Amino acid sequence: CGIVGYIGHRQAYPIIIKGLERLEYRGYDSAGIALFDEEEIKLSKTKGKVADLKRISEEQSVTKGVLGMGHTRWATHGVPDDLNAHPHFSNSGNLVIVHNGIIENYDSIKKALQNRGYTFKSETDTEVLINLIEDVKKNEGVKLGKAVQIALQQVVGAYAIAVIDQNKPDEIVVARLGSPLAIGVGEDEFFIASDASPFIEYTNNAIYLEDEQMAIIRRGRDVKVRQIADDALVTPYVQELEM
Ligand code: GLU
Repeated sequence: CGIVGYIGHRQAYPIIIKGLERLEYRGYDSAGIALFDEEEIKLSKTKGKVADLKRISEEQSVTKGVLGMGHTRWATHGVPDDLNAHPHFSNSGNLVIVHNGIIENYDSIKKALQNRGYTFKSETDTEVLINLIEDVKKNEGVKLGKAVQIALQQVVGAYAIAVIDQNKPDEIVVARLGSPLAIGVGEDEFFIASDASPFIEYTNNAIYLEDEQMAIIRRGRDVKVRQIADDALVTPYVQELEM
């Protein structure tokens, strides 16, 4: 299973597809991609291999955009099929998530959300998390990064996640606990991936998020890393990789 993402000035699609192929060794049963195509986030996803995802994305013209994220899934909650494949939208259609790991208390969160009118298209723990983030964002009137942070404070489990917002074409929010997540720092562009192999040809500067850290990545600007538990700002250590 793995995550690859891109935010910058290049077309994200070929970077993400190639990156997912490099992460194939991690094992998976489904694959998917989300791309910010002009005004709209478009998804394509399927049970099967990255080669199947590539065919379907090209058939559905989900290939354009300078911000995107891709996922390979190793199913833990819900069978491997097209609906359970990531990325997942929130109920409003504004937020999109990819996730590796397990949300252990997803069942109680899901019931609470259902009582507030939320519905679910998949059987995944991940779709519960993105709707929890949406619910926090609405109820507390906070920005995306803050909503992710507050939601994660309520979660028990393990995760590497990336979240994007239909209303924020220049931002990706990522977080990790127990599953790896690296951020490649280029010139006016950033990469995210489960390990550095998807971005090593573009940059040899990487930030490895530590457990219980999150980062807000803004196009052409910066990466702000914070502790999920207490919001403390962390100065990220940019490691130089050997090319
Ligand atoms: N728990 C999530 C699911 O079953 C993510 C699995 C993964 O790590 O790919 O969909």
